[in-house]
Amino acid sequence: MKVAVVGGSLGGLTAALLLRDLGIGVDVYERSPMVLAQRGAGIGFLPESQRYLVERAGVGLDTISVATSRLRYLTRDGAFAYDGAHQYRFSSWTTIYRELLGRMPSGIYHLDHEMTDWEESSDGVNVRFANGKAQRVDLLVCADGVASTARARLLPGVKPQYAGYVCWRGMVPEAALDETTQALFSDAITYYIHANSQVLIYPIPGPDGSVKRGERLLNLVWYRNYLEGGDLDDLMTDNGGQRREISLPPGAASERHIADMRATAMARLPTPMAKVVLAVDQLFLQVIYDIDIDRMAFGRICLIGDAAFVARPHAAAGTAKAAADAWSLAQALTDERDAVTALKKWEPGQLAVGRQLLERTRRMGRRSQFDCNWTPGDPQLLFGLHGPGR
Ligand SMILES: Cc1cc2nc3c(=O)[nH]c(=O)nc-3n(C[C@H](O)[C@H](O)[C@H](O)COP(=O)(O)OP(=O)(O)OC[C@H]3O[C@@H](n4cnc5c(N)ncnc54)[C@H](O)[C@@H]3O)c2cc1C
Repeated sequence: MKVAVVGGSLGGLTAALLLRDLGIGVDVYERSPMVLAQRGAGIGFLPESQRYLVERAGVGLDTISVATSRLRYLTRDGAFAYDGAHQYRFSSWTTIYRELLGRMPSGIYHLDHEMTDWEESSDGVNVRFANGKAQRVDLLVCADGVASTARARLLPGVKPQYAGYVCWRGMVPEAALDETTQALFSDAITYYIHANSQVLIYPIPGPDGSVKRGERLLNLVWYRNYLEGGDLDDLMTDNGGQRREISLPPGAASERHIADMRATAMARLPTPMAKVVLAVDQLFLQVIYDIDIDRMAFGRICLIGDAAFVARPHAAAGTAKAAADAWSLAQALTDERDAVTALKKWEPGQLAVGRQLLERTRRMGRRSQFDCNWTPGDPQLLFGLHGPGR
């Protein structure tokens, strides 16, 4: 069997490595002309995201992630509204990407290959790329992310639904902060909830992957509401005047909005959190969308990860869902080598996983941003792919 995986981020890499482990001939096609740079910043590192590196590559979790032992909520004056024991692991998109990419055999990860089109017939799929090349395969796995071209063609009626808020993000070297602030955030996920908004901070590996205290980064996540229309258009118009749809990368947000974030941080956040916001060199943001689908398998083609469902980040499970899609696909192809039959058997389980995550994270987002009843310490609010805390 020959497989093309389109999209060379965490979902695509996990799928390709697992299929290769089954002895299947697999190639990964990534549109970016360069090895991908840091984008997703910190990630809650759930068991599904850890699984390939731990089970198949023998990587020690403590070398690629930071373990925290407290779950905390601050009050406006910096006291603890809640301080409970809870263990999480955090890593960074870059660390996991580097580790997975390092396990790919050479010659099968192809940069500068943007899939533009395909034709499917009863015995294969002919995939075409913007660089003029083409590849005939038995199975096409589309892991091409939130703005998936494959989803747009296979499910033209499915449109991203704006959740009513965005997620501002940033990272700060621990060493850039005073010792008291570093100590506060070093072993915890720390939240601050205020009217229609939520801020969270957690430690992640440093830019070079170091997990040593003092060499790590603090990862900032700040959900803020912007009305659809004028407010959102204004926010998403970058400092070059271009209206962006999904994200503003570091350096793209307008000075006015950055100044507003800093002023709001000083006026509204507990002092240690405001210090983190002010220390971020380049804030960036992602618009929060829901994408709901009712199919993931289409003959010899399937959608995985963010190319399938996109759920809000409140369960920290996007990467985990992409990995779980890949693991179950590998299992389906172990049980059944005919691609069409395997995909038919694979689809219902992953539709169920995606749908429950989407519904749960919608409820969580509503509690945080609109109903304002996100209760410190509520176990329903724990991270997890299959449910709170699991
Ligand atoms: C604010 C925020 C916080 C998050 N926090 C977490 C967290 O804590 N934990 C967690 O697990 N997840 C988190 N996520 C989700 C996570 O980032 C995504 O779910 C995950 O990256 C999805 O991986 P993917 O491989 O499916 O898609 P992506 O990472 O989006 O990758 C898609 C790839 O496909 C490529 N591509 C696109 N089109 C084409 C084409 N036509 N041809 C070839 N290549 C193409 C792109 O260049 C890209 O490399 C968060 C997301 C957001 C927005």
